[in-house]
Amino acid sequence: MPQPLAGAAVRKPSGAGLQAGAYNAAMSSADASPISKDPVKPSNFLRQIIEADLANGTHAQRRWGGSPGDGDHHNQGQVDVAKIRTRFPPEPNGYLHVGHAKAICLNFGLARDYEGACHLRFDDTNPEKEDQEYVDSIIDAVHWLGFGWKEADGHENLYFASNYFDFMYRAAEYLIEQGLAYVDEQSADDMKANRGDFSRPGVDSPFRSRTVAENLARFREMRDGKLPDGAAVLRAKIDMASPNINLRDPAIYRVRHAEHHNTGNQWCIYPMYTFAHPIEDALEHITHSICTLEFEDQRPFYDWLLDHLREGGLIAAPQPRQYEFSRLHLTYVITSKRKLKHLVDNGIVSGWDDPRMPTIVGLRRRGYTPQSIQAFCERIGVTKDYAWIDYSTLEGCLREDLENQAHRGMVALDPLKLELTNWAEVFGSAEHLEACELPALPHAAEGQQVPVRRFTLGREVWIEREDFAEVPPKGYKRLFPGNKVRLKGGYVIECTGCEKDAEGNVTKVLATVVPDTKSGTPGADSVKVKAAITWVGVADGVQAEVRLYDRLFTDPQPDAGGKDFLTLLNPDSLKVVTAYVEPSLANAQPDEKFQFERFGYFVADRKDHTPGKPVFNRATGLKDSWGK
Ligand code: ATP
Ligand code: MG
Repeated sequence: MPQPLAGAAVRKPSGAGLQAGAYNAAMSSADASPISKDPVKPSNFLRQIIEADLANGTHAQRRWGGSPGDGDHHNQGQVDVAKIRTRFPPEPNGYLHVGHAKAICLNFGLARDYEGACHLRFDDTNPEKEDQEYVDSIIDAVHWLGFGWKEADGHENLYFASNYFDFMYRAAEYLIEQGLAYVDEQSADDMKANRGDFSRPGVDSPFRSRTVAENLARFREMRDGKLPDGAAVLRAKIDMASPNINLRDPAIYRVRHAEHHNTGNQWCIYPMYTFAHPIEDALEHITHSICTLEFEDQRPFYDWLLDHLREGGLIAAPQPRQYEFSRLHLTYVITSKRKLKHLVDNGIVSGWDDPRMPTIVGLRRRGYTPQSIQAFCERIGVTKDYAWIDYSTLEGCLREDLENQAHRGMVALDPLKLELTNWAEVFGSAEHLEACELPALPHAAEGQQVPVRRFTLGREVWIEREDFAEVPPKGYKRLFPGNKVRLKGGYVIECTGCEKDAEGNVTKVLATVVPDTKSGTPGADSVKVKAAITWVGVADGVQAEVRLYDRLFTDPQPDAGGKDFLTLLNPDSLKVVTAYVEPSLANAQPDEKFQFERFGYFVADRKDHTPGKPVFNRATGLKDSWGK
């Protein structure tokens, strides 16, 4: 009987992630990207492998049964319209991070570029640690990054490995029947000692010579709950003297009396990852199974297992092949889910979506766009080399993406009041407000109408505290008594002095406005100045909370070489200031990005921002400051 394995049994994730609207929105926002449209993709070794396979017709006759299944199921299907099949197989035990983004862009990107399909597969074969919250967040993250898993006929390539337990069990019995697996009941210590090491071959278990009938009976007792946890394992019978320790009779099934979130108490034995993963790939008829380099030594077992299952007709031909690339190492960042969870569970960050976290939800809240992350993954490429990528590469991709689309705005992050003492004299009233405007995008595309932002200048404005010096340091061009500057988009002003409190702190800067110098009016440049400073009107500026994020760790490789990342936390990774922002910024929608002139790119916080109470997060500065 052919066995389709998905269909009605596929668990439907909760949450809005799968709704067509969300999916289409994510796709179209990705399509709108100026970066991801770039048709020239640099080649890499994986592209070369795929192109060679396509040229040689390696998968040309491959049939697809319309859903995952065994050999007969696929062989009764049509020739697959997907020229290749790849997959992204996260374990739903945490939120995805920037390293996963690399794997997502790679697998979904290859499928997109070669008329293939990429499956989202939850690798949920481990009964513990898995959670619906993580399933939902992973679905959201992949959609948000701009990828989907729906085929042209509407079929969704969204799978759960736990739906394959029946087949995995069948495959295990098949190996036993072929004399290729046995139930070992050595103690864990004996098993470890008898495995040998790099210099010493392993020693056969006394259980290795059990008969097929004995093994089958004992394995069924394992399945039927007759044995306690740890009492026995099923092992593949390969070669105890292999120089590759992974081939020294690896364990493929263990006893674990635990409830599984999908299969409940149906099973008390669970497949080991090394056994489950190749089978998952084969049932889904994956052509190119791409994983990180740690799994290189597992490849011989991957092939051993699938060779036998294919020869026995249990899986379809051609079988999947595994290819490895090096994982992303990003400076100042940790990408271990376990360690990231520690930061969350211990309140070191505010949650998985804390803007300092390298999680997809953290990057999103920090102001990253899907296009910038896709561009980053393209830029770093795919190799087998061990290398650290500089964090500035990621920031550079965000700046490039936002440069031509984030509206500009002025803010005072460290506000100091300035009074124009001759205002009433020049304009006839102390309350007079001059309407001013500046382009919201200085480099609008050709044919695009330049968006304009409007604000007013009055008798009092907020300036940046560092833009005034009572005694100017050498070369200082901004405000000091006797010097003239331009209020950007407004008038030239001349500093006349300041007011101070009892401790000598400057509380207000005094200046006079120079008539007939308004930006954009004839003769505005008749008075020459060496600097234009940013400002916000006291009359129409809006108070805002601005969160100045910095790197979370002080060390570029916080968890390399046995370092304790918890001792390397940056105490200044978050500084919150009360700022004033120009009115156009206060009307921001949550998630909207801006360039705060001279300070960098900021985003209206997707959780806390409301137009009545603006909250902005610093995404990145204007220039690379990581090396300095
Ligand atoms: P962790 O050790 O943090 O739990 P993981 O690799 O075990 O990470 P999985 O959920 O198993 O997490 O990962 C799903 C996929 O993402 C795997 O195919 C894995 O190779 C890939 N991946 C995980 N981390 C990185 C990384 N830093 N760079 C590239 N790919 C990664
Ligand atoms: Mg893992």
